[in-house]
Amino acid sequence: MAWRGARAVPDFPTMPAQAPPRPDTITIPATMLPSDGRFGSGPSKFRPEAATALAERAVDYMGTSHRRTGVRRVVAELRSGIAELLGAPAGYEVVMGNGGATAFWDAASFGLIETRSHHLSLGEFSSKFTDVTMSAPHLAEPSVRVGDFGTCPPLDAVDGVDAYCYPHNETSTGVMLEVRRPDGDDDALTLVDATSAAGGLRFDATASDAYYFAPQKALSSDGGLWIALMSPAAVDRIERLAASDRWIPAFLSLKLALDNSRKDQTYNTPALATVFLTVEQVNWLNGNGGLEWAAGRSDRSADILYGWAEASDIAQPFVSDTAIRSRVVGTIDFDDRVDADTISAVLRANGILDTEGYRKLGRNQLRIGMFPAVDPADIEALTVCLDYVCEQLIA
Ligand SMILES: *Cc1c(COP(=O)(O)O)cnc(C)c1O
Repeated sequence: MAWRGARAVPDFPTMPAQAPPRPDTITIPATMLPSDGRFGSGPSKFRPEAATALAERAVDYMGTSHRRTGVRRVVAELRSGIAELLGAPAGYEVVMGNGGATAFWDAASFGLIETRSHHLSLGEFSSKFTDVTMSAPHLAEPSVRVGDFGTCPPLDAVDGVDAYCYPHNETSTGVMLEVRRPDGDDDALTLVDATSAAGGLRFDATASDAYYFAPQKALSSDGGLWIALMSPAAVDRIERLAASDRWIPAFLSLKLALDNSRKDQTYNTPALATVFLTVEQVNWLNGNGGLEWAAGRSDRSADILYGWAEASDIAQPFVSDTAIRSRVVGTIDFDDRVDADTISAVLRANGILDTEGYRKLGRNQLRIGMFPAVDPADIEALTVCLDYVCEQLIA
């Protein structure tokens, strides 16, 4: 069902203006609703089967020591499963630690960036990493290339820089980037924030030295952990900086994270449920055909969502350049006949959750998580619901 715009209403000047219906008074017909109403961009939908599997392991896994074989076997499974899913090149290893992607930024500022980093800053998350290196007293002021929301600045080589930092997918704006090294600089490291990309977008693993992420977004697990696929060059850098006289807080030490990961442990206690749910999702993806299959699923969802928006006369994709329009986080602008916040409030009242746009963008926008765990058929159902809600709000 395609949106056909506001119905023609005869113009009776004496008619009182009608107040729009209250969000909680619009009931979407049950037959239109998706099978699962979670469309958040993080934490995102995890599959109910993963929760069931966790419940079944509540007694012999949850509440047991993370230094013993029971948990360490699951950590080992996580590390090898991630390496398989991401196509780890020879010599690359999977390192993990606590604190999510935000902690990794601080850790990288101590353990991976030698003197000066270069950042692409194009939204909330990429700008936050920039803030970290900007304020780190032991680093030189970073070089920053800023892009407008919804666009992506080019990645060019910069003199005197030892690390290039950018997101694979900027979650706040729905812009995806190509994972690559800048032309003409082979010595510096590339540090790629893949929190909303890992396991949902294809990439060239050899082009990155630290492909890091928290697993509650593209990987549909829960928060609290960071995981990084690291190249031999990144490991060398970590070893060298750890041996230098730089002060590095233990919790943020990538050397300690590396040494513990090699023993299938973390430096301090991880969230065991997060580890377990990540393994469940990684095994599900690998068992179905790996990254190619997973990315294909997000492609189908993206084609449905953007196809709907392009055909609609009330909505359109926010990111106009289709080459960088994210396949995993969709941002959709609405025209001023409808208020996007009202749409998400109506959806929420009907059990369709977390479609709100990123607040700081300040746009009349919805943001939709299209990670591999989301069924493309549910994205289709969501577009039907959007048509229905828009009709009700405008009618
Ligand atoms: C959500 C997000 C983060 C922050 O992740 P936390 O686990 O909350 O620290 C960092 N980068 C990107 C791209 C994100 O989407």
